[in-house]
Amino acid sequence: MSYDPDNIFAKILRNEIPSTRVYEDDATVAFMDIMPRADGHLLVIPKTPCRNVLDASPEQLSAVMQTVQKMGHAVLKAFDADGVTIQQFNEAAGGQEVFHLHFHVLPRHEGDRLRPPGNMGDREQIEEHATKIRAALG
Ligand code: AMP
Repeated sequence: MSYDPDNIFAKILRNEIPSTRVYEDDATVAFMDIMPRADGHLLVIPKTPCRNVLDASPEQLSAVMQTVQKMGHAVLKAFDADGVTIQQFNEAAGGQEVFHLHFHVLPRHEGDRLRPPGNMGDREQIEEHATKIRAALG
């Protein structure tokens, strides 16, 4: 399986389509999921191309996981959450829909269920959640 440079997250990285970014460093970007399954649901991606965990380099995995951890702490604080769910899918059979490596970071509250997938979030609400996450990052 080869990397498609026209996948939607590659376009986000090139600013060809809009995204709500909450964090960025030399190697990674974190932005809000447009179909949030929980308030504060965000995605962490490497800036360099790879499809998923199966073809990622150790450097890509290391950089992405460090940002995942940072964003986990940020959403815990921003949403006063009790826990964080981290999800990641590999290839279509593994549940992957966008073929640029990404990790989902979802703040969780005791007893709450994730919302069903595939429902567009409210843009204004997602912006508000992004503002909270940026503030939590200090
Ligand atoms: P998956 O590949 O199964 O991890 O799913 C891809 C995820 O990307 C889903 O949670 C989508 O809601 C999300 N997504 C798809 N397009 C965009 C976009 N343009 N901006 C932000 N998130 C997106």
